[in-house]
Amino acid sequence: MLEIVCPNCAAVNRVPPERAASSARCGKCKVALFSGEPAELDAASLARHIARNSIPVLIDFWADWCGPCKMMAPEFRKAAVALEPQVRLAKLDTEAAPSAAAAHGIRSIPTMILFRNGQELARQSGAMPAGQIVQWLRDALG
Ligand code: ZN
Repeated sequence: MLEIVCPNCAAVNRVPPERAASSARCGKCKVALFSGEPAELDAASLARHIARNSIPVLIDFWADWCGPCKMMAPEFRKAAVALEPQVRLAKLDTEAAPSAAAAHGIRSIPTMILFRNGQELARQSGAMPAGQIVQWLRDALG
């Protein structure tokens, strides 16, 4: 069984791997576990996504005032469509959750950090197009 953290309510769902793809819904809030939309996280749900997901988690640390972040947003969404359900893509607003950004040593945005099994695997600062995000992530996962 895979543990998949709900992108909406952060409940931990146990899902058979063959069902993770498109059909699985959260047992608590009933939303689709994978919708092609990056999850919007706060400090608490970020910690839970990193700690509890069986699948790798890619976090985009961004802020509303950051032009390159806004340019990258649709690219990050395209990457989510390409990578789900093998990888969870999510965003953290560093203005809304500055302590979470500081805890992960975010010095410039956008910065993406890839986590697996609760550990940081790779990070990348600066905006990238979707194809490059997907390639970078596949290289990092090996
Ligand atoms: Zn839920």
